[in-house]
Amino acid sequence: MANTMKAAVFEKIGVINVKEVPVPEIDDSEVLIKIVYTGICGTDWSIYNGWYSADKLPMIAGHEFSGVIAKLGKNAKGLKEGDRVTADINMGCGTCFYCIRGEKLLCESFTQLGIHTNGAYAEYVKAPAAQVHKLPENLSFEEGAFIEPVSCVIHAAKAMDARLGSSVAIIGCGLGVLHARMAVLRAAAPVIIFGDNRKRLKIAKDMGADCAIHIDDVEDPVAEVKRLTGGRGADYVIEAVGSVKTYEQAFGMLRRGGKLSAFGIVGEQDTMKIRPFEFVLGEKKVTGSCAGVGSDWTDAMTLIANGRIDPSPLFSKIPLEDLDWALHELRSDPSLFKVFVSPDITKREML
Ligand SMILES: [Zn+2]
Ligand SMILES: [Zn+2]
Repeated sequence: MANTMKAAVFEKIGVINVKEVPVPEIDDSEVLIKIVYTGICGTDWSIYNGWYSADKLPMIAGHEFSGVIAKLGKNAKGLKEGDRVTADINMGCGTCFYCIRGEKLLCESFTQLGIHTNGAYAEYVKAPAAQVHKLPENLSFEEGAFIEPVSCVIHAAKAMDARLGSSVAIIGCGLGVLHARMAVLRAAAPVIIFGDNRKRLKIAKDMGADCAIHIDDVEDPVAEVKRLTGGRGADYVIEAVGSVKTYEQAFGMLRRGGKLSAFGIVGEQDTMKIRPFEFVLGEKKVTGSCAGVGSDWTDAMTLIANGRIDPSPLFSKIPLEDLDWALHELRSDPSLFKVFVSPDITKREML
């Protein structure tokens, strides 16, 4: 095996260079994974712009990946070279108050592979063996690289815990599309999704959403949800945009006693207006959700492997060299959904 590899290094804000760097060295408890695909995520755009993890640059980003085990540490149990895998990117210290309670996502020194440490926009990535998941036989490498986003949606769905027959409204048609699918799988009805992209709304509809509404087609999404739910508001609302305005809308379209799932990431210092009255007399509740972890990953694999979630209509592929281009293109081309980067392909395969 060569000592160097091709990688897309996020050098500083707004600069990505594809260049030769050393192949990561693994310790006894780690594995080296040869990357097949890495999905581009909104978080990568935030890192590129310095809104997130700016203190970690230069860094190789990329946290939604699939590949094949190329090398194993001595203590990597239950795995072998050639295994098709992905890896849970969430790493806790294992000893703090939160880790001991099994709340790794809240760990005092929480890190995510490809977000805070070197990731998968490269030919190889290293990961702790204990975090590696073998892909079921009928799961493609594309689907393997899509487990991370699905696991995030599953984590939020478990926290929200929508009851059968309840109404669910979703704001946002990025991962909101998968939230809509998840609500359908939980036998929620009606499932209402708002978005700014007709193609994605159509996909949500194809996945079973009852109402897929373009925000240009309604005057007031809050009034629309009330109209569709007998004047009450939705039993559950998922904010999957990440803006103060849409969080306020989400809270407004929630019925008394309803639950809001806070999923979209806003700026750290952003604040919103809430009347505490609605928590007290309205008994409204909020569940926050930061990532998918542990069994959220295996549940994601099970749902995809058994066809409950079919993400294949969402996929495009590009060579690693085009990462910079694709990060910008994703902002301007509404037809793109999930773009996979591969170190091995030379031609773009667009949706
Ligand atoms: Zn992601
Ligand atoms: Zn910890």
